[in-house]
Amino acid sequence: MWKIEKKLFLEILNTTKQLYPKEFLCFLGGNKQKQEITEFVFIPNKSNENSVYFQEQDIPFDENIIGTIHSHPSYSNLYPSKADKKIFQKYFINIIISFPFGENDYKAYNQKSEEINIQFI
Ligand SMILES: [Zn+2]
Repeated sequence: MWKIEKKLFLEILNTTKQLYPKEFLCFLGGNKQKQEITEFVFIPNKSNENSVYFQEQDIPFDENIIGTIHSHPSYSNLYPSKADKKIFQKYFINIIISFPFGENDYKAYNQKSEEINIQFI
């Protein structure tokens, strides 16, 4: 099971709250073998209430980047869009967080956009 540092997750929730109502997206870095997420990586992007745009070439080429996390500013919308599923295919772990961005307002997905459990450490 994928593990994520609780401190890191709370930091991301905080950043998301500050950016609200804009959508937030960043990449997750960590150790693939240990299935541990230990950092997040921002890339330049433009966001609005409905989506985040970024250039594929801006994604840092880094084998430690294993996942994504992004926000859905609308209440309780924790399900991936068609565009989300396309991005998810490239990463092992993908987290969606939704308004009001509490500790339980998230779902995690694998590369096939199937819901998976994550563990906080
Ligand atoms: Zn989305």
